[in-house]
Amino acid sequence: MKIAFIGLGNMGGGMAANVVKAGHEVNAFDLSDEALATARDNGCATFTDAAEAVQGVDGVVTMLPNGGIVKSVYEGSVIGKAPEGAVLLDCSTIDVATAKEVIAKAEAAGYDMVDAPVSGGIAAANGGTLTFMVGGTDKAFKRAEEVLNAMGKAVIHAGDAGAGQTAKICNNMLLAITMIGTTEAMKMAEKLGLDPQKFYEISSQSSGYCWPLNAYTPMPGVGVESPADNDYKGGFATALMLKDLRLAMEAAGSVDAKTALGKHATEIYEAFAEENGGLDFSAVIKTL
Ligand code: NAD
Repeated sequence: MKIAFIGLGNMGGGMAANVVKAGHEVNAFDLSDEALATARDNGCATFTDAAEAVQGVDGVVTMLPNGGIVKSVYEGSVIGKAPEGAVLLDCSTIDVATAKEVIAKAEAAGYDMVDAPVSGGIAAANGGTLTFMVGGTDKAFKRAEEVLNAMGKAVIHAGDAGAGQTAKICNNMLLAITMIGTTEAMKMAEKLGLDPQKFYEISSQSSGYCWPLNAYTPMPGVGVESPADNDYKGGFATALMLKDLRLAMEAAGSVDAKTALGKHATEIYEAFAEENGGLDFSAVIKTL
């Protein structure tokens, strides 16, 4: 297939390279010359205009910073510019309302389109091991699957348009809450005189079992190796967690969902991100 790839940043750069590795032709577009140079090195054809990059393609993948940019790229350069038979895949993390709106516009113009946000960071993007949660019709999902398989290890059809974004923000709200809870329990155990490693051994095999404790232990030298063992560098940036929490709060408000802990977690990450946005989100333990 010939795929246009728009947005070749930390995530999109590696994802586009994996689409090339899977044997597809890639037309790459980004506003950054540096990103385009890397895409060329990775075997992509590069373009200085998104509307030109989508000419004659079978599919379009976007990996962009936010909903406003996704909307303007689709409305300005993809819908009505890419061939009508092309399947459209937005892999960015954006708000549910914009995802639904852009898909409705694409469908009205005759395209199949999915929202397909990812779980997994830059390493998973480079390694082709992302998990995709996908919203859209059965037909759009089936058409998108081959492209997504080139970039990930798991591709899950979550439901209708917007369901991928919904799954992503609900998951990440839960992750933020469990991360904060894990750091509180570990610090409290330590302050009460319990060896944190002993707490890890006990709780990771008890009802305190959860992903932040078992798979991403947020205290240096305790439990499994994680960004905590690397001064909280790498991993999933606090600023990106805050972005997802804000999207979650916006979506919760739109349906009057009660999210007391989600709201509190957002406030904690808002305060922490002011000076620590670049650190891994497990560094929130420093506030304790
Ligand atoms: P990034 O800022 O590194 O990359 C975004 C790229 O989009 C940049 O290269 C930028 O030049 C380009 N861009 C911006 N506006 C554009 C436009 N109008 N046309 C073409 N290109 C444009 O961001 P990222 O870390 O790669 O994240 C991309 C998306 O993936 C975001 O929605 C983010 O929330 C999501 N995400 C990121 C991670 C992560 O760990 N970085 C994990 C999961 C999901």
